[in-house]
Amino acid sequence: KKEGRNTYRLYRSEMDLAVQNHLTLETELRTMLDTGDGLFMVYQPLVSRETGLTVSAEALVRWQHPTRGVIPPGEFIPLAERSGLILSLGERVLDNVISDILRWQQQGLEIVPIAINLSAAQFWQSGFVQHVERKLADASICPELITFELTESLLLNKQAQGIEILTHLSELGCRIALDDFGTGYSSLSYLQHIPAHSLKIDRSFIEALDDPNQSSRPIIAAIASMAQELGLTVIAEGVESEEQWAMLGNYAIDTIQGFYTGYPVEADTFSMGLTSQLSQ
Ligand code: C2E
Ligand code: CA
Ligand code: CA
Ligand code: CA
Repeated sequence: KKEGRNTYRLYRSEMDLAVQNHLTLETELRTMLDTGDGLFMVYQPLVSRETGLTVSAEALVRWQHPTRGVIPPGEFIPLAERSGLILSLGERVLDNVISDILRWQQQGLEIVPIAINLSAAQFWQSGFVQHVERKLADASICPELITFELTESLLLNKQAQGIEILTHLSELGCRIALDDFGTGYSSLSYLQHIPAHSLKIDRSFIEALDDPNQSSRPIIAAIASMAQELGLTVIAEGVESEEQWAMLGNYAIDTIQGFYTGYPVEADTFSMGLTSQLSQ
């Protein structure tokens, strides 16, 4: 009983510490976002299953914290979403990607389309599409070079308005990818109404490929063939092994993203990879 009480006390002080850390992190995030110093992007290749070439890349945000090292987005995006900092974070991400693209172009590189993740608050911000249009025009970046990744849950309850925004984005020339597909609540049939260009099958299905007892295989098969029928490019996320790569050959999957084909790397490392791909 005594031990139980001590455990409880320890637990409480750990909780206090967690809350304290959390508040500190929020303050630090706010300060960092004022200048944007410390925020940078890494790029993970998306590889054609047929040719093995890098056809696109996903931009993933990182925070170089002064004392804690590099903090992954899973630890600060939810915090940014709760504290209203997500709009300014999204703005920094867009700026960072634009400046990386400009640098690659100045280096004379033939670059591939870059995918940017969107949070709900960003997507639903009024004037979002015009804002993107202005930013890209100011930087003289072709909208075809930008893909926006968003999850199906973002459209839940507000499908008609969401489709309108997506239509404008796609008229602008940007591409649209449905992220983490298969984990939401929507039915496959709603796909035909969404003006998307590609669909990313969630990593959880790829992970479960190794286990024949799980129903992941028929689900992957159904999603992939349906998407193909609708003219969408199909991307498998989170491919980690040669076995998974090989198994995915059985389905209508165009593109592979995952540690097996490439880790997320910093801008310069990514562009060096593109250069060596060209010279091969
Ligand atoms: P996501 O959009 O599903 O991004 C893919 C995540 O899976 C990335 O984690 C990536 O590093 C990881 N990943 C890629 N291949 C593999 C693999 O083979 N195995 C495993 N285990 N993981 C793999 P990351 O960079 O930590 O990002 C986590 C999430 O944070 C992203 O999930 C996305 O939802 C969010 N995020 C990242 N960058 C941004 C951003 O700039 N803006 C917004 N709004 N969200 C972002
Ligand atoms: Ca994504
Ligand atoms: Ca994803
Ligand atoms: Ca995810």
